[in-house]
Amino acid sequence: MNLLLFGPPGCGKGTQSVRITRWLGIPGISTGEMLREEVASGSELGREITSILSAGGLVNDELVNRILTRRIARDDCRNGFLLDGYPRTLSQARFLEKHLDSAGLAQPLVLHLDVPLGDLKRRIAARRQCPKCGHIYNLLKDPPIKKNQCNEDGEFLIRRRDDHPNVVNSRLEAYQSWTHPVLEHYHNGNYHRIEGELPPNEVYAQVEAAIEGQMVRVLR
Ligand code: AMP
Repeated sequence: MNLLLFGPPGCGKGTQSVRITRWLGIPGISTGEMLREEVASGSELGREITSILSAGGLVNDELVNRILTRRIARDDCRNGFLLDGYPRTLSQARFLEKHLDSAGLAQPLVLHLDVPLGDLKRRIAARRQCPKCGHIYNLLKDPPIKKNQCNEDGEFLIRRRDDHPNVVNSRLEAYQSWTHPVLEHYHNGNYHRIEGELPPNEVYAQVEAAIEGQMVRVLR
């Protein structure tokens, strides 16, 4: 099954993605993570996109489409995959639709984690990540056991560069202006609105119900 986890920065996509992919045994593909890895590697491409990422803008469609198609062609995606943060523009959504059709792959089940804007800024301000295993914490709602250290590997937690307040506003603006048409594109498809402002377990219960409903439909 192919899934698309859709929602603004700070809506909890990363947390839900980990739980869903563990459950279904499929890879979670975050274009944001792939782009950050590119920057961290110091490659030429990484240098080209550093300024876009640190300003909170969007990387161009052609580049992201290329990274994405290369990733979903890999063997671990043959039983499905979860997309997190892609597509973000109408052009990417149209590209993905065509690409999946031409590759004989299923169109995604769309899970939209909807969270009010005011909540997002508070959540992002409290978000920290383990630089080693990628685990995400919320200092207010889901803090690590030892102050500022990852529960899994003891690594010191960091704040993502693009989670700083001046960048967050640009990212939220980009989400509002670019991604609204993407949602419209999926509205008549296999679309589920999830109440993303609820506690993570309740969000997950809604996600699970949507996926199980899809499994039943596929088996019928
Ligand atoms: P994320 O971790 O999904 O919030 O992504 C972090 C940053 O990576 C975004 O603010 C964009 O600059 C870039 N990015 C990630 N995914 C895409 C995409 N599908 N299209 C364009 N830019 C992207």
